[in-house]
Amino acid sequence: MSETRRLHHLIGGERVTPASGAWFESTNPATGQVIYQAARGDARDVALAVASARSTFEDTRWRDLSPTRRGHLLRRLGDLIGEHSEDLARTETLDNGKLLREMRGQLASLPEYWYYYAGLADKVHGSVVPTSDHRVLNYTTREPLGVVGAITPWNSPLTLTTSKLAPALMAGNTVVVKPSEYTSASILRLAELAVEAGFPAGAVNVVTGFGAEAGQALVDHPDLAKISFTGSTATGARIASSAAARFIGSTLELGGKSPNIVFDDANVANAAMGVVAGIFAAAGQTCIAGSRVFAQRSVYDELLERVTQRAGSIRIGDPLDDATELGPLAFTDQRDKVASYVDLGRDEGARVLTGGRATDAGLGGCFYEPTVLVDVDNSMRVVREEIFGPVAAVMPFDDEDEVIRLANDTEYGLAAGVWTQNLSRAHRMAARLEAGTIWVNTYRAMSPMSPRQGFKSSGVGIEHGTETVKEYTRLKSVWINTSEDPVADPFVMRS
Ligand code: NDP
Repeated sequence: MSETRRLHHLIGGERVTPASGAWFESTNPATGQVIYQAARGDARDVALAVASARSTFEDTRWRDLSPTRRGHLLRRLGDLIGEHSEDLARTETLDNGKLLREMRGQLASLPEYWYYYAGLADKVHGSVVPTSDHRVLNYTTREPLGVVGAITPWNSPLTLTTSKLAPALMAGNTVVVKPSEYTSASILRLAELAVEAGFPAGAVNVVTGFGAEAGQALVDHPDLAKISFTGSTATGARIASSAAARFIGSTLELGGKSPNIVFDDANVANAAMGVVAGIFAAAGQTCIAGSRVFAQRSVYDELLERVTQRAGSIRIGDPLDDATELGPLAFTDQRDKVASYVDLGRDEGARVLTGGRATDAGLGGCFYEPTVLVDVDNSMRVVREEIFGPVAAVMPFDDEDEVIRLANDTEYGLAAGVWTQNLSRAHRMAARLEAGTIWVNTYRAMSPMSPRQGFKSSGVGIEHGTETVKEYTRLKSVWINTSEDPVADPFVMRS
């Protein structure tokens, strides 16, 4: 093991050895080979990182930096991400197995997120509030919160971490990140680039390690002013209750079981591509995966035929190869989880139209075939629970009312797709679907400019867009009495 590269924590701009002296391995899921060891963080490393973030937050070099200058730093970091995009994309592909061409696409748009918040930095302000006494001025300001903890998953590490870091830093906070144990490398690199961009050393700190150790210690740290989390609903619920008990805020982006609905007036060929992209892109490992497909009865067979045909011909293989269309699941346990869900579906009475098998794709990795399940309904666990893999459950429906009822019959509410050429229907569906994002005749569209929020068990709080300002600042209300009249004695009653 001595030749394996070691990744340290990044705390106060320095590479820091874990207090425990322990390291853990990260594996390339396409080949099963160990690619590096990362520091196994615990409460001691977290304490160091929070102290570093806290002291930078209080340092006048950060606190008194003008918002415009903060914006420059964000812009510079966006530039650096652009300059290193190929490296960063490869790093993520090796860590989580997502297609290199998809990661290149994500990295190509990532600087835009930093530029967006760079532009917002000096546009954060309060307002003057009218009062009943014109001599009294009441105004509000928006202040940064302090040290923000960011806990992020493995499926799109840089993008999902940026969704938290960019607005948090823009607003003048400092940050401690605990990335997923499966994808430490790109986040450490991002933190190094932040230092290179000119952020003060303790503005972005990264403690790698396991959720139950480093993650929990971060959530529990008394100096944390806010926790921003993306991950599973179960972990999110634990984090939310811990934050609530200490009266700090939390932004939670959680799981989903999103419906993708095809009406008989849709362009069915386009809809089929939207369905395939919705569930098989990124091997289904996206929170917004369109894992429940509803097709109106008269186009059900045609849609199924098109989706099944394309799913069956998806090219599985090395995610570094441009010809590959589906890479591995991110790690073996995730592949096993997907396999056990499909087995469960079979036991529940589902029929597998295509896929339904694990494979190593001749590479020694942990892959799972694109899978289409039919003869399913909302009572089955494969339809109710998030699988986070390339598994679509396809169901017929008769009319709008029925599909609204079926689509909304879920604990989740992250996103929904609608395929129709009827404009009125599109608006009706957008209004009635219980999901924070609705796509009509498209799927998976995302932009730093467009706010998004999960409904129900899919989350709390907003990411992207100007609304995030409220997530990462606190409001202060200032009252100024401008009158020079004597202040009346409150105990002398005027007649
Ligand atoms: P987890 O909830 O298991 O983990 C997310 C992060 O939380 C990881 O960094 C993890 O560390 C950490 N963590 C785990 N337990 C704790 C704890 N007790 N205290 C603090 N931190 C903890 O999710 P996954 O990583 O498995 O990600 C997949 C899930 O994320 C899916 O369910 C998916 O729906 C959801 N997701 C949601 C998105 C959204 O925007 N709504 C986007 C992407 C994913 P470790 O890795 O060591 O376990």
